[in-house]
Amino acid sequence: MKSEACMAPDLSRVYDVLVVGGGNAALCAAMTAREAGASVLLIESAPREFRGGNSRHTRNLRYFHDSGNRHLTGPYLEDEFWNDLLLVTKGQTNEELARYAIRESKNIGLWMEQHGCRFQPAMRGTLHLARTNAFFLGGGKALMNAYYACAERLGVEILYEATAEDLDLREGFFTSAAFDHRGARRTARARAVVLASGGYQANLEWLKQSWGPPAENFIIRGTPYDKGRMLRVMLDQGAQTVGDPRQGHAVAIDARAPKFDGGIVTRLDCVPFGIVVNRDARRFYDEGEEFWPKRYAIWGRLVAQQPDQVAYCLIDSKSIDLFMPSVFSPIEAGSIRDMAARLKLDPAALDDTVQAFNAATRPGSFDPAALDGCATEGIEPAKSHWARPLDTPPFYAYPLRPGITFTYLSLTVNRRAQVIMQGGAPAENIFAAGEIMSGNILGQGYMAGFGMTIGTVFGRIAGKESVRYVVERLKRS
Ligand SMILES: Cc1cc2nc3c(=O)[nH]c(=O)nc-3n(C[C@H](O)[C@H](O)[C@H](O)COP(=O)(O)OP(=O)(O)OC[C@H]3O[C@@H](n4cnc5c(N)ncnc54)[C@H](O)[C@@H]3O)c2cc1C
Repeated sequence: MKSEACMAPDLSRVYDVLVVGGGNAALCAAMTAREAGASVLLIESAPREFRGGNSRHTRNLRYFHDSGNRHLTGPYLEDEFWNDLLLVTKGQTNEELARYAIRESKNIGLWMEQHGCRFQPAMRGTLHLARTNAFFLGGGKALMNAYYACAERLGVEILYEATAEDLDLREGFFTSAAFDHRGARRTARARAVVLASGGYQANLEWLKQSWGPPAENFIIRGTPYDKGRMLRVMLDQGAQTVGDPRQGHAVAIDARAPKFDGGIVTRLDCVPFGIVVNRDARRFYDEGEEFWPKRYAIWGRLVAQQPDQVAYCLIDSKSIDLFMPSVFSPIEAGSIRDMAARLKLDPAALDDTVQAFNAATRPGSFDPAALDGCATEGIEPAKSHWARPLDTPPFYAYPLRPGITFTYLSLTVNRRAQVIMQGGAPAENIFAAGEIMSGNILGQGYMAGFGMTIGTVFGRIAGKESVRYVVERLKRS
């Protein structure tokens, strides 16, 4: 017998809650709302095989916990979490919402396990996250599959290949959504809506509005379905925005990655162990400023600011085994000049850059697991740690491009996850969760595992609050 969730939804009825989106935030909202007794319809743009948005590419999340457990090596308390956030955002965050999100994340791993998530035992490795971040066994894909299975068991109705195109709003009050389902225009009516449809990073035209033509050279690390349609509709309908359109999460990824959906395997973690040059064979930033998890998210922007939005990370054979291998093989050469020829860079310029860098390195005790203070002297930009001469062939290079993960321009929300309209009043029955509201908390910068924290926490809040709204409204009528 087909489960209820596999059957076509009944679009003649009025659902309690419509959830737009099919990633982590959407599923957390849908499961929570359904468990609270609501009828829930979830519409996901992607076909079933590609469901799960950016969330299916994830590996871990960060949450507040008082003590270590099977998958975390020690405590991570509110103040440390908050200070980590302050450091990366440089204060560009809404403290009330951010602290609320941190508190609400307390022991969230337990709730996730109750909904099918499996975590792997804490691991050591180059990411230094074993205490703060829990890793999903099987990655984000397994997490999404588990959540969909749980949502179906609970009776959430799910429609794939269903793209919300418009929202019918009367003075900020939601009544229905128009969506495309395999080429046919349909309408879903509901008493409340949760918008969990991600950022707009897959919409190159929108990115170009703030980045200009360089956006053409950006690679989108995740789903091609996050085009920001719901964000645009809400902005046109008078929702208040938060966040800078030029801010977002962008990492340096292998320039040979596909335009969309390359996922985690295209990321490169070699930067701290080598040097990075631009098209003119010049270094442009301190490659060893900090541990890589605290710096990887600035390198997308750094590469985006270089001519032609391209850069090259060079290492020598001493470092080839020090980082997680990329899916693409490195470009190999016996000398720096041969490497320049292979990368189509000016050989003399690259040779000069490497020689100047090598001359600026100082003897020290190199330690990839510590801020080892092996720094350059008398060179700009400096390299603060892990600076060793590039002198042991073969040499290796990886071409880099900006890889956009998600955008921060967002819908403003309150603690109930209600969308705030211009003028400051909340839209009673419109809630938002995940990337679409992440800019409330992430004004700039990023820390590993926090995207999933925001989606899980606000997904649950949106699920709970949408049902609370529906119950109160039904009582009133
Ligand atoms: C390669 C990669 C690795 C990452 N690793 C991590 C990690 O380890 N930890 C971490 O915390 N974060 C990570 N992130 C960031 C993380 O993926 C996001 O912060 C998080 O998944 C956002 O969840 P979401 O539900 O808001 O968006 P998504 O998961 O992107 O879901 C949005 C959903 O909305 C659907 N949709 C879009 N528009 C419409 C529409 N109009 N109608 C219907 N449906 C629509 C999409 O199809 C998609 O299913 C990573 C991202 C990438 C790309």
